[in-house]
Amino acid sequence: MLITLSEHSEAPRIQSWLIREGVASRLLDGGRLLLVDDPFIPHHLLRRVDADPAVLRREDTHDLPRRVLRSGIEEAEWPFPGRIPTLIAGPCSIDSFAVADETAHLLSSLQLGWMRGGTHKARTSPYAFQGHGFRAAEWLREACDRHGLRAVSEVLDTPDMEAIAELLDLVQVGARQMHSFRFLQRVGALEKPVLLKRGLSATPEEWLWAAEYLLDAGAPSVVFCERGIRTPAPLKRFTLDLQAIPFIREMTPYPIFVDPSHAAGTTPYVAPLSLAALAAGAHGLLIECHPDPAKACSDALQALDFDALTDLARRAQCLGKLEVTP
Ligand code: PEP
Ligand code: MN
Repeated sequence: MLITLSEHSEAPRIQSWLIREGVASRLLDGGRLLLVDDPFIPHHLLRRVDADPAVLRREDTHDLPRRVLRSGIEEAEWPFPGRIPTLIAGPCSIDSFAVADETAHLLSSLQLGWMRGGTHKARTSPYAFQGHGFRAAEWLREACDRHGLRAVSEVLDTPDMEAIAELLDLVQVGARQMHSFRFLQRVGALEKPVLLKRGLSATPEEWLWAAEYLLDAGAPSVVFCERGIRTPAPLKRFTLDLQAIPFIREMTPYPIFVDPSHAAGTTPYVAPLSLAALAAGAHGLLIECHPDPAKACSDALQALDFDALTDLARRAQCLGKLEVTP
């Protein structure tokens, strides 16, 4: 961003309030111009720059994902009517109709409005369980309808993607697909809200641009989901990047969810990470649970059993009462 000032003598004043807001700038042209290299400046700061009487002009110096940033849109479509924080729970994969139905029964008794569950699974190994595909999407839909829930599932670039998406209320793009631009366009063209996982090592720019692909192709809204990233020495499966929460809140008008299950990879860490995420301002959580975790077809080690999920839902709802709506 390049700021043109009316007087070079104003530069120290403006630079010092920018610094207090955490933004560094460089002086150019004898102090008449201030260059801010960071492409992502919070919207409230842009407003303050624009309102300053010493500022003649502000220009973008980077190509920006305009549909995603707050400066492009003040009021985003919000796919979660009702309760904030929103807790979306369910098995890693929809192993059977019975698993979906038992889980949906529990979730509705806890008054949680959403269920997740995989259909086609994106597995690292081609020999690992790949999911039950379209059948699983039908089981998920039927269980959700029986218990008054909305359905979320990851879609992959399969021939039945559109047919599966028809059965979903929110379409999930997995961490491993976040960089697949043609796929993002195909998902955006479904014209459904999309939950966009952060790629395994995605930079903030890459994550925001992936959301831009979806919105540009027709998605009415996106839900960002931080699910842990690769760091040099992860203590568990991945490292949960809690900074993603204030970052997405400050930069975009869209919700930020946290998936502690895939970050931790192990059940004892799921509740502490969930509560930390809510305390930091996450709008919701995506949690894996299973009626009998030992029998789960995928991600058994990180699946909460029903008692643990019930306990977490109660604690999350207590904490959530502190949270103000967006
Ligand atoms: C999932 O949510 O089931 C999943 C595979 O997550 P991720 O893409 O974050 O690994
Ligand atoms: Mn999983």
